[in-house]
Amino acid sequence: MAENAIPNDGQPTPYDVHTRESDGEYEGVGHTGAAGFEAPGDVNSPWNEDLPEGEHDELQDGMLPRDLPKRTTFYDPVAERQMTQTDAKLFYQRSKAEGRSASGAWALPTPLGSPMIASGSRPATEYGADSLVLDPDGNLPETQTPWKSHPEMPAQPPEHNATSEPLSKTKAYAFPATTQTQPGLASDGTEARGFLDAQAAHLANAGLLGSSLFDTEPHITSELSSISKNIQRILDLRHKYISLSNQGPNDNPRDGPDWEIYPPPPDPAWKEGRAGYAGSSGLASGQGAHPSYGSLASLGKNEAKRSTRKRKPGQDIGEDFDMEDLLPLPGDDGMTFEMDESGVYQVFESKESEEPAIKVPTIRDFYMDLDEILTTSSDGPTKSFAFRRLQYLEGKFNLYVLLNDYQETADSKKVPHRDFYNVRKVDTHVHHSACMNQKHLLRFIKSKMKKFPNEVVLYRDGKHLTLAEVFASINLTAYDLSIDTLDMHAHTDSFHRFDKFNLKYNPVGESRLRTIFLKTDNFIHGRYLAEITKEVISDLESSKYQMVEWRVSIYGKTIDEWDKLAAWVVDNKLFSHNVRWLIQIPRLYDVYKASGLMDTYEQIVRNVFQPLFEVTKDPSSHPKLHIFLQRVIGFDSVDDESKVERRLFKKYPVPKVWDTKQNPPYSYWIYYLYSNMTSLNYWRKKRGFNTLVLRPHCGEAGDSEHLAVAALTCHSISHGLLLRKVPLLQYIFYLDQIGIAMSPLSNNALFLAYDRNPFHQYFKRGLNVSLSSDDPLQFAFTKEPLIEEYAVAAQIYKLGSVDMCELAKNSVQQSGYELSIKKKWLGPNCDLPGKQGNTMVNTNVPDRRVEFRLHTLLEERDVLRRYAMHDPSQASSGTAAPSNTVAPEYNGSSARPANVSTDLSPGSKGQQQQPSIVESPQALHPALGPA
Ligand SMILES: [Zn+2]
Repeated sequence: MAENAIPNDGQPTPYDVHTRESDGEYEGVGHTGAAGFEAPGDVNSPWNEDLPEGEHDELQDGMLPRDLPKRTTFYDPVAERQMTQTDAKLFYQRSKAEGRSASGAWALPTPLGSPMIASGSRPATEYGADSLVLDPDGNLPETQTPWKSHPEMPAQPPEHNATSEPLSKTKAYAFPATTQTQPGLASDGTEARGFLDAQAAHLANAGLLGSSLFDTEPHITSELSSISKNIQRILDLRHKYISLSNQGPNDNPRDGPDWEIYPPPPDPAWKEGRAGYAGSSGLASGQGAHPSYGSLASLGKNEAKRSTRKRKPGQDIGEDFDMEDLLPLPGDDGMTFEMDESGVYQVFESKESEEPAIKVPTIRDFYMDLDEILTTSSDGPTKSFAFRRLQYLEGKFNLYVLLNDYQETADSKKVPHRDFYNVRKVDTHVHHSACMNQKHLLRFIKSKMKKFPNEVVLYRDGKHLTLAEVFASINLTAYDLSIDTLDMHAHTDSFHRFDKFNLKYNPVGESRLRTIFLKTDNFIHGRYLAEITKEVISDLESSKYQMVEWRVSIYGKTIDEWDKLAAWVVDNKLFSHNVRWLIQIPRLYDVYKASGLMDTYEQIVRNVFQPLFEVTKDPSSHPKLHIFLQRVIGFDSVDDESKVERRLFKKYPVPKVWDTKQNPPYSYWIYYLYSNMTSLNYWRKKRGFNTLVLRPHCGEAGDSEHLAVAALTCHSISHGLLLRKVPLLQYIFYLDQIGIAMSPLSNNALFLAYDRNPFHQYFKRGLNVSLSSDDPLQFAFTKEPLIEEYAVAAQIYKLGSVDMCELAKNSVQQSGYELSIKKKWLGPNCDLPGKQGNTMVNTNVPDRRVEFRLHTLLEERDVLRRYAMHDPSQASSGTAAPSNTVAPEYNGSSARPANVSTDLSPGSKGQQQQPSIVESPQALHPALGPA
């Protein structure tokens, strides 16, 4: 209120000065608000309660004069308005009007087409001046420069919209920038080239194609070159391990077009796809060739049965599943398997074969490769390099957001129907036995106590106990039970106490209640857990947009665990469109050893993998397991990572001689999961069965070596907190876009305070992160734990709806859902990079954001590649062009300087080169730390 005391006697005040400056900026905008302020400038105080003329028009229904925004030294309502809904609304209306303008009735005369077209038309990464384009009239001079800088791009005729073919809405939303982004596309109309052209245009814009890259001291260049080679070497190692184990993007038969999902996904989402779906299932079950639209008689027997067995999402969970539909199962294929001396199952093409069908890296290979990664990641200059690149990526994103924030908001407002709540989100990391919230579990326990107190639920010490007796033995009645007595929240007392956290799985601190209610393998065969699981599934299906990947345990204690687990899932019909499973292997060898359950580590390997090889060889030998495995994505590995791992051995013994009471280290556990899974996947892929991936808990605490192990062998990880301490590995995770399912709320309770969580930093840097709830039972307060996770992150980190939708999109892409389902959720091309793969009506992520991410990544990879290919001996001086970076086939025809690598951009021209606006040479040549 101090401002009111300023005398308004016509003397210039700081306010007036500001007014004039800011009026100048908005000259020509023609905004009534601005004009209204200008006129009374000296006569009426701007703080005067009397409204200037123009303002009266702005008063909307029910708005009080005092609510009308006024301009102060620090606040300009006009500028503010340009950044908020009013314009976005205008924007939306315009975009709709443009749709109509094709028919001629609503054509709007605008100088450059409309501002929407003009702004959306340039690559997202060419972000300079984008915000200025948003001026409603589109007549700022800045808007035109980018056009002129592309000589081959024809000036856009104003009547473009009236004369062009009517665009279908979908098409327009999917590719709002199609017609003008890429010159090549506009001139010859081939979509295939568009992507490459865009890349080239971008690289040119970023100044990377200039000679600046190697324009530095030779010794620095050669040092950068050797760093890049080391990084490239790690990436090559990773690619070798991933492709060998069939964990790559195109390796899983489940992602093929013929893969049948049974029970099929619910109908509404699949309306258009019905014919295609029925066709593929017809093929899969070996029935007639035209099953889709024919009469019932032409449907196969199974087809007919299945089509009658439909259910509504959220109701009658499992009623659409009948094992009969899937019989008969395939038989033995004649291949064999055998565990070798070092504890790895090997597969052989036939009984006579002596050589394994696939050569799995030995444990020695593994540790040597791991050592190489660890050596590189602790090298000083390499660390500095990675650190600076990551900082650069973060800064680049900040700049991008600064300049595109408004445009992104406008883009997403143009999308009809879709918002954050109805984009698909996958909870990429949830433990099944903690998948319900506490209130839910409490309600369930109470209702069981009320309705079935005399049910026998436990056999202990030679006695059968009923539920009532169990509660009597712990001095509790149904009335006593509350969230507080249940005591399963882990908010306050579990920080850095993973041991205490594990105890939180016991309701009321009683392990027998955990056995009764939260175990699949107990006296009642996991019936209670199945019932509550169905209730959770029902909630998920009703929410429609939330999916989960539940972790269930296989301990490796006995050989029949897999069959029991599969029977639990199949017999209880726990099949849902919203649920897929991962198998978590707790690293508990030391516990079993101490209790005398086993002698050597080899028994764990055998118990975990033998049934899987048996069922792959002959599915009819474990029918339920075969069916269950179709919904299993892969392996997780869980336990307290912060436990000390003492290195007892210089060379680790193989499993059959690992008989000490010491638990093997993380790397050893992962190696045996990886190596056996590699053999298994080879076989499963060959038979057309779905393959499995490795997605362990990693980097939650403990040694950063765990992350190196994951970078070498794993599809993706959960947590990854410690990447913040290992810049090189973080950079590797970025370059290869390794998925990280993060759970800041869980970390907040266990290992790292929320405000220190690196999640937001990773996100800004462009790492492939998603949000997940980990243990809703212990951490969540609401009915929708995943939304709670997003909500808290949005509040703390101030995420916008575009950010949240991008995270949701990441989560779907990271998840192990079948490609056909991902296509339904994200759009038909979701496996393509950049905006080609982005269907905005489905993802609600603006194309410009997707393009920014892609181009940044490509650019980063390109910088590395070209440094790695740089041969200092051939560069006589810093500015000399290393000729070996040129792809030979373009050498003669390219108009670019010789050191410009063109393999990304066959169709582009030299004129596209522009001065760098983003990347200064300094950014590319970080001064190296003290080496
Ligand atoms: Zn977890």
